[in-house]
Amino acid sequence: MRTKIVAGNWKMNKNLQETEALLSELSAMLPDSNAEIIVAPTFVNLQAAINSLQSSTMKVAAQNMHFAESGAYTGEISADMLLSLGVDIVILGHSERRAYFGEDDALLAKKVKTAVEKGLKTIFCFGEELEDRKSENHFSVVESQLKNALFDLDASAWKSIILAYEPVWAIGTGETASPEQAQEMHAFIRKTIADAYNASVADDVSILYGGSVKPNNAAEIFSKPDVDGGLIGGASLVASDFVAIIEAI
Ligand code: PGA
Repeated sequence: MRTKIVAGNWKMNKNLQETEALLSELSAMLPDSNAEIIVAPTFVNLQAAINSLQSSTMKVAAQNMHFAESGAYTGEISADMLLSLGVDIVILGHSERRAYFGEDDALLAKKVKTAVEKGLKTIFCFGEELEDRKSENHFSVVESQLKNALFDLDASAWKSIILAYEPVWAIGTGETASPEQAQEMHAFIRKTIADAYNASVADDVSILYGGSVKPNNAAEIFSKPDVDGGLIGGASLVASDFVAIIEAI
């Protein structure tokens, strides 16, 4: 049985007071669920989130991390810094990091390697752009993103990998991949992993869908056999919406 996961990527939203308010609202409303529920506030509010969620089952993730152990990397955050707060999950490879901050597969491979070595779980994001889908290159783009960033890992490292397929054209656009498109890609991803490793690695990895998941479309997307949950942006910023999405899993 794969772990079902609903993760909220808050991006550059919510100051300290708003973070505390949203987390207390979420804690009060959180439904019983077998799914793992994760929130990813900005770096500066991770400590506050950890404190707020001390008696909650919700987990806290960071939105990014540097690959180096420590040193002269002004403005960066290391794995040890996250772990020292009690944060042991990190989102890597988000399309906004790739598009606006120049993060490429080679850099992401280093970050994932560090996360694995340090004992952090990685939510690894990837997905094709609109032109790739229009030109029917979406499968090969996704395959190469996985191969370049992840396929040097040992099979045992996959226990700490969560995948998040996020077609770039569906992020923050209100346009969602249809449940069939999501299922088709998730099945392809699983097969690609089975071919590179083996069936058990492929069967055990949770593959989340991300891109305009909302209360009104979550249940249908989550009903697909290879979709193990969602990475939620905009709708994770409103407690009632995020809770409705959790209820859909
Ligand atoms: P969205 O963002 O739900 O607002 O489309 C998803 C994401 O970027 O992870």
